[in-house]
Amino acid sequence: MKPKVFIAVSVPPEIEKYIAKHCDYRKWEGEGTIPQDELLKEVSNVEGLLIQGIKIDKKLLDHAPNLKIVSNVSVGYNNFDIEAMRDRGVIGTHTPYVLDDTVADLVFGLILSTARRIPELDQYVKQGKWKKSDETNLYGTDIHHSTLGLIGMGRIGEAIAKRGKFGFDMDVLYYNRTPKPKAEKELGVSYTHFKELLQKSDVIVLMTPLTSETANLIGANEFKLMKKTAFFINTSRGQTVDEGALLEALQTKEILGAGLDVYQQEPINPDHPILRLPNVVTVPHIGSATAKTRQDMVKVAAENLVKAVTGDKRQNIVKDLAYINPDKV
Ligand code: NAP
Repeated sequence: MKPKVFIAVSVPPEIEKYIAKHCDYRKWEGEGTIPQDELLKEVSNVEGLLIQGIKIDKKLLDHAPNLKIVSNVSVGYNNFDIEAMRDRGVIGTHTPYVLDDTVADLVFGLILSTARRIPELDQYVKQGKWKKSDETNLYGTDIHHSTLGLIGMGRIGEAIAKRGKFGFDMDVLYYNRTPKPKAEKELGVSYTHFKELLQKSDVIVLMTPLTSETANLIGANEFKLMKKTAFFINTSRGQTVDEGALLEALQTKEILGAGLDVYQQEPINPDHPILRLPNVVTVPHIGSATAKTRQDMVKVAAENLVKAVTGDKRQNIVKDLAYINPDKV
């Protein structure tokens, strides 16, 4: 008998076929995210679950006594209640590596958009405001040969550092809890303590996972340490930044601009005052959103699911749950 799984995300036909070959499956066919009551019913007899960002908590696990694996179509996994999953021996997998370059490209899109004011000036041209006489109004800030400060230089962070160093001749500083001497040698980047990085950088990119340690990592004190000419980019998760403090830092010109892909609440309320500021560039959480990369992520997530329910140990288990052997719990 094939293992039972539930697919809560939309997958292309070839991926569905691949899952069908190995598993007995049901899938969510409605619009948008599956409502929680539907999901709780669907998980009652499955061993595997394919999701994107849905909260996996004690309540869901209580409804899923046979569950062995939750496969997330994402590299971030702050939607996992790690303790609850650990207690139940449920492993969680994610999709590292395949999105690194795509997210790093978006980071540079945000850096250039904010520093060179591309969306603002796009509107300037389209609204017929462009006059040959007023060119000083259009000036931005150079990114090349400036200092990039990366908070969280992991897989994606290294791809950002590479672009900064070799593409834009930037001086690259980084801060992690653990220094990375090999990356320092290969990429020519420098380990710098948190406060010093905030003080020295022209562009600060936040790329950590969301954890209890990184929640509100950047708040009023951190913005005060930054240069008044600094640009702040958040592509990690919205909750890593105190959004009220960011708004104030932008309004009071403690920093020059911000590029945002992620928000405390998603979708962000269209009346949020931060959206009214000309020195903020926003995109709707599209870090990994290219057709090719999203396809690759779904493929990796489907393979993680199938491998876990068919006893193949080679899945991308998230590091906080890596030591769990469900057979022994
Ligand atoms: P990763 O390889 O695990 O890198 C994370 C880095 O953050 C590591 O270098 C880690 O180093 C550092 N870090 C963790 N906790 C920290 C702390 N308290 N203080 C300072 N540094 C800390 O992960 P990744 O694949 O690069 O992805 C990073 C995150 O990006 C994901 O978790 C996700 O939230 C986000 N993301 C967003 C998008 C998007 O669409 N916007 C797309 C993909 C990923 P140490 O452990 O040594 O501290």
